[in-house]
Amino acid sequence: MTQSVTVIGLGAMGMGMARSLSGAGFSVAAFDLSTPTMAKAAEAGIATHETPAGAIAASDVILLSLPLASHVEATVDAGLAAGAFSEPKIVIDTSTSEAAVSRRLAAKLAELGHGFLDAPVSGGPQGAATGALSMMLGGDAQWVVRVQPVLDAIAARTIHVGPSGAGNIAKLVNNMLVACHMLTTSEGLRLAEASGLPAEDAMRVINNATGRSALSEVHFPNWVLSGSFDSGFSAGLMRKDVRLALELAQECDCAMPVSELVADLWSEENSGIADNQDFMLLGRLDGRAKEKTNG
Ligand code: NAD
Repeated sequence: MTQSVTVIGLGAMGMGMARSLSGAGFSVAAFDLSTPTMAKAAEAGIATHETPAGAIAASDVILLSLPLASHVEATVDAGLAAGAFSEPKIVIDTSTSEAAVSRRLAAKLAELGHGFLDAPVSGGPQGAATGALSMMLGGDAQWVVRVQPVLDAIAARTIHVGPSGAGNIAKLVNNMLVACHMLTTSEGLRLAEASGLPAEDAMRVINNATGRSALSEVHFPNWVLSGSFDSGFSAGLMRKDVRLALELAQECDCAMPVSELVADLWSEENSGIADNQDFMLLGRLDGRAKEKTNG
């Protein structure tokens, strides 16, 4: 089992995972497109590389945390699929990516003797920094077994959902629910306030009753009612998840009328929240989302 792990993509999630791996005793190599981010990584004792290929060559396990499936595919194609390595390497793709891309990459790498796991995560930057993520895995069990110590360093819970792409599908279903819960929780709290009950009082009840969710238990108290709106997850990345979930629904002809309405309310135009702002602003208790839902 390798003692070295390469992390590509050192953003809100990747940097936390790299630090968790370091803390667990792995030597960590890394690459990110951003020069300031690379400098921060070097300060944290992470071995930075000037190219993704150099970082990939440094370890047998490659962990990706990239914004889009297209970044994942380009990185794997350039660094691994060219066939430069005779020893097996295992890619753990923690990005919220697309099942079709994961299946394609897993098949391509399998022909070269390498492994690919789709391994999206839940738990945010805090979970990444503390090694407490929830991870949903798709791919061949032989690779899961081989990287289990790496997974243990970054995740408190790992669920091997099924074959390649299964982790991606589970993640998109989860995040579509998050998007829906965000708006329904916000609506419920606005109803409470409009009727004279402070949101905090309604929340105490909801979190001890059947209307609760991770959004009501964690997100709203920490990032909405506190007024901080700094969860570390951008509205743009969450819109990607909503878009991918609806594309998946279209591919398999699954009707999603509520989710389609949520996607419409989540758009930059209807919410007034830009892609680079924190996604928790979508749950704020006033503003244009309220006007829109009030019709
Ligand atoms: P981020 O925008 O904070 O970081 C992305 C990092 O990737 C940046 O440092 C950027 O410079 C780097 N990057 C972009 N393209 C690259 C490339 N081709 N090669 C190397 N580096 C590249 O994003 P994040 O919030 O850390 O999210 C990363 C992934 O994890 C996304 O797929 C996201 O959907 C998913 N995710 C995020 C959260 C969260 O709460 N932030 C939670 C679960 C899953």
